[in-house]
Amino acid sequence: YNGQSGNTLVARAIGKIRVKDVKSLPVVVREATTVYDAIVTLFTEDVGTLIIVDNEGGLIGVVSRKDLLKIAIGGNDAQKIPISMVMTRMPNIVTVTPEDTIYQAAKRLIVHEIDTLPVVRTFALPNGHERQEVVGRITKTTITKLLVELGEGHN
Ligand code: ADP
Repeated sequence: YNGQSGNTLVARAIGKIRVKDVKSLPVVVREATTVYDAIVTLFTEDVGTLIIVDNEGGLIGVVSRKDLLKIAIGGNDAQKIPISMVMTRMPNIVTVTPEDTIYQAAKRLIVHEIDTLPVVRTFALPNGHERQEVVGRITKTTITKLLVELGEGHN
């Protein structure tokens, strides 16, 4: 790291790389999924956040590790509670599009203090409404992996 010129190089790199170039597959579940099954999915899919979609793949919500921990330690029956009761819902979900830069994605993760961003494409429905189709995810790990790749050969 060498001050101004190093900074400019990093700024250029992350302002040029797009979400679509580095996004990973979204790990999604339906809103009828129980808290129990959601927790099992965190382990089997090795992720910290699940994205909740409707039957057409449209974004409905997000559920994090702590959302699930909160409900699990509250003396509730995890097998009976649907994640729709504990998830964060649209329109309060922070997202990115495939064309956004990785700088914009990283900035959003920091500003909103979250670990995962669903990558969405907007579709206009015939009735004038819009649907956000989930096409990927960006996580703090995505950003860290990219940093390692950019650093490869220079360290
Ligand atoms: P954890 O809660 O396990 O620390 P996060 O920091 O990612 O994980 O989540 C913090 C809170 O923000 C949770 O209540 C979660 O539902 C919510 N959240 C997670 N990702 C998003 C997002 N992309 N947009 C809006 N809210 C989110």
